[in-house]
Amino acid sequence: MVLFLFRIFNLVQPQHHHDHQKLSRSSPVSAMVTREFLVVRNFKDINERKDLQESCAVCLNEFEGDDKIRCLINCTHTFHQGCLDRWMDLVQGTCPICRTPILPYACQDEYNKRLNVVNNLHMKSY
Ligand SMILES: [Zn+2]
Ligand SMILES: [Zn+2]
Repeated sequence: MVLFLFRIFNLVQPQHHHDHQKLSRSSPVSAMVTREFLVVRNFKDINERKDLQESCAVCLNEFEGDDKIRCLINCTHTFHQGCLDRWMDLVQGTCPICRTPILPYACQDEYNKRLNVVNNLHMKSY
């Protein structure tokens, strides 16, 4: 009975704390920092581009009007924002199609700097 009440108590707790914990556990820091360097566009704003794929290689669905699309700079492959984010949490750092690094080559130095800053912050908070 006590256990049962405790469970209910947990269920009615505000959710944002849980969400935050889930997020930081499932997303490697390197993936979070890499995302800051990636461009997100609405598909309808870029669909005149001739080199654009019609569908996302992660979920195999076609891109549609308001879909948020991540365009990789190194290899020009494109994916849904959510699909690539999930991919990056599982397989760090390379394009699902061609294995080119997701992080733009030109941003490597800046990326290392930011990763250091984030790692230092993490150490301080523990
Ligand atoms: Zn997708
Ligand atoms: Zn690629």
